[in-house]
Amino acid sequence: MSTPIVIDGKEASARLKAAIASSVAAMKAKHKVTPGLATVLVGDDPASHVYVRNKQKTAVAAGMNSFQHDLPATTSQADLLTLVAQLNADPAVHGILVQLPLPKHIDQFAVINAIDPAKDVDGLHPISAGRLLAGGDALVACTPTGSVMLITDVMPNIAGKHAVVLGRSILVGKPVSLLLLNENCTVTMAHSKTADLPALCRTADILVAAVGRPEMVRGDWIKPGAIVIDVGINRIPTDDGKGKLVGDVNYAEALKVAGAITPVPGGVGPMTIACLMANTLKAACQIHNIADVAVPTRLPPRA
Ligand code: NDP
Repeated sequence: MSTPIVIDGKEASARLKAAIASSVAAMKAKHKVTPGLATVLVGDDPASHVYVRNKQKTAVAAGMNSFQHDLPATTSQADLLTLVAQLNADPAVHGILVQLPLPKHIDQFAVINAIDPAKDVDGLHPISAGRLLAGGDALVACTPTGSVMLITDVMPNIAGKHAVVLGRSILVGKPVSLLLLNENCTVTMAHSKTADLPALCRTADILVAAVGRPEMVRGDWIKPGAIVIDVGINRIPTDDGKGKLVGDVNYAEALKVAGAITPVPGGVGPMTIACLMANTLKAACQIHNIADVAVPTRLPPRA
């Protein structure tokens, strides 16, 4: 068995971010438009704070404007919806990201549905999901887009390959499946009621795991040479009490069988923010009818 490709998500996301930054520079020079990303954070969840700060920093590094709205955990749904309406109407804002999860007293779906679909850079609005389903030019959720970019970076033409996607969430499983279908894969979507998961997985040329179950996919579930994309992020306890992050795939076992595999951390994770930037650039192009600025849909080649 030849050595598998360990897919380096950090390197891949750096490539994508560099391409986006150069497109942003071209957009500013040619059209005097600066893409703007508004982030909305409600409450004090430390992990959400870190995620939002990273998104803001990445936007600024790409040459975009970043508008930050940090609201207390006691913010009412009505006040949050008022802010979303203001951002919808603000011409400097091209992308709106409401960091999830929201406090329990706020209906997450009401807030997502209130975002102008033209600015829905998280790709979670039903209009965005519908456009993806219809095969149109949608703003697609970032983690699924990043996952498929990593796959096509390893194998540019995946038409006819059998892809098995473990998980059917709106956030990951369903959009990944639709993106792979758009790439002309034959797609099987599996979930908690699927019969004989190991046997099904062994038929996959491409296996995407997005279940949130630590190391559930074992080495003997994997077809030799398959591309394995591990979306899962699970913290498991360790003897030193610090815990560690593992994916949904048993990495050590999978490494012996797969043709290419993403590690956790450092695989899919870094692609998510880069794809958020790609969506913000895309939204700005669409809102201003700009057709001569490149919005990357694949990872640019290595220099
Ligand atoms: P959800 O909990 O929304 O969905 C999990 C899916 O996995 C469901 O469809 C569920 O099936 C299925 N599932 C659960 N247990 C099993 C099982 N034993 N066998 C087969 N299928 C099973 O999770 P998300 O989609 O939001 O996230 C999945 C993972 O991806 C998580 O670990 C999350 O942390 C990670 N993630 C990582 C991101 C990144 O940037 N890298 C971004 C987003 C998520 P059913 O529908 O039948 O219940």
